[in-house]
Amino acid sequence: MAEIPTSDRTAFVVPSTGARSWNDYIAEFRASAHQTVDWIASFLENTRDYPVLPSVKPGELIDSLPKSGPEKGEELARILADFNQEVMPAVTQWNHPGFLAYFGCTGSSPAILGEMIAAALNTNGLHWKTSPAVAELEQVTLSWLREWMELPKDFFGIIYDTASTTSMHALIAAREMLAPEARENGSAPGFVVYTSQQSHSSIEKDAIAIGVGQKFVRKIGVDSEFRMRADLLEETIKADLAAGLRPMCIVATIGTTSSTSIDPVVEIADIAAKHKIWLHVDAAYAGPCAMLPEMKASFAGMERADSIVVNPHKWLLTNIDLSVFYTRHPEILRRAFSLVPEYLRASEDPRAIHLMDYGVPLGHRFRSLKFWFILRYFGREGLQAILRSHIAMAQQFAAWVDEDSRFERVAPVPFSTICFRFKGSDELNHRLIRRVNETGKFFLSHTELNGQVVIRVAIGNLGTSLADLEECWKLLQGGAAEL
Ligand SMILES: *Cc1c(COP(=O)(O)O)cnc(C)c1O
Repeated sequence: MAEIPTSDRTAFVVPSTGARSWNDYIAEFRASAHQTVDWIASFLENTRDYPVLPSVKPGELIDSLPKSGPEKGEELARILADFNQEVMPAVTQWNHPGFLAYFGCTGSSPAILGEMIAAALNTNGLHWKTSPAVAELEQVTLSWLREWMELPKDFFGIIYDTASTTSMHALIAAREMLAPEARENGSAPGFVVYTSQQSHSSIEKDAIAIGVGQKFVRKIGVDSEFRMRADLLEETIKADLAAGLRPMCIVATIGTTSSTSIDPVVEIADIAAKHKIWLHVDAAYAGPCAMLPEMKASFAGMERADSIVVNPHKWLLTNIDLSVFYTRHPEILRRAFSLVPEYLRASEDPRAIHLMDYGVPLGHRFRSLKFWFILRYFGREGLQAILRSHIAMAQQFAAWVDEDSRFERVAPVPFSTICFRFKGSDELNHRLIRRVNETGKFFLSHTELNGQVVIRVAIGNLGTSLADLEECWKLLQGGAAEL
């Protein structure tokens, strides 16, 4: 039988390092935490000196670490040293200014501090009383963002982990609106989800997850600029209705993942309204640009959506994860998800928000804390200036591509992502990307458009400068000359 400590303040024990008091535990933390913050600051100062892509082989980290966990606890200082030596070489540096793959992003300094404090508090906002701060700071920050994105006031916001999860909640709310009996009976076959050939794979995955089935995801064709064709959407919906199917949700994208194309949301909203179908707008990447008055046209129609997803962890300086869901039907979302066992019964005060009622997760991280730090630290003008600089740099990069006859641009550049190719085989384009990535200075990724391999440069890091992009472009040109 373990001994029962007589005083919990003195009997805190880490066996490896001997019996220690709570005070020793805190003292060790304080010293290691100071060291860690210094490490983080140096890392942020010198991120450029790390290769963006690690040079490890699959399985290398697994092989280099012990097969079993330690019997005895170890000191923080030792763990930190091993992190630096063993783990760090296997890290892909997403916070690197040369990270131009997928969508460049930034975990900014205020976000890091907010995340540290949230970890220390370890507070969990299941329902209001389990942490009023989690429930209410989320509402405050999301209403600030809503106002900055010029969305109508009736949009209710909630934070989930990723856009994939967020869009799943949109599909479930859409089903709840159309067929409330599905909550009890399950998803009968025949619900249909409409999205474009260029939309994110998460939409199809979400349809799989909630039992709609891949067969019932209609991937509507796109025009020459990769935008959903509203005429084909309308035709498909009519055919499905005639066949006795139940159109459930249309997912339009503002800023598709491959080419950042913009679906014609105004026309799509008309179709959704006419057939009373839930309209979800996926603006996971491009959403923050709704804060720019000059970009208003790109977001036309978004204000008519039933729901919207925007990912601050993509282009709003937020470390992963933080995805925002806005819906103007919180009561439908709540109807879909509210299921309260007695032990979770909570206050019925109408101002007490119970986040557990609006989605699958019960536990709710204090993600809004880091977001509050970010919104306050940069302010609306600061964020706008950063977005504008990324857009301007993308325009400059596009101009370089257009001036070089060995390359061709494959899509318009409405945001901060340039899609282009070397005029040659797919294999040569892959070789060009590999050549740039092997320098360790940049990480570029590819996509496929019109059946051809396309190089993507996606700007979204706070530290990326025009000089970086010039260097990257020179590397591409040098590679082209050699090929
Ligand atoms: C990145 C992206 C997603 C998926 O985002 P996660 O947060 O990683 O799930 C969904 N939609 C679009 C348009 C995206 O660009």
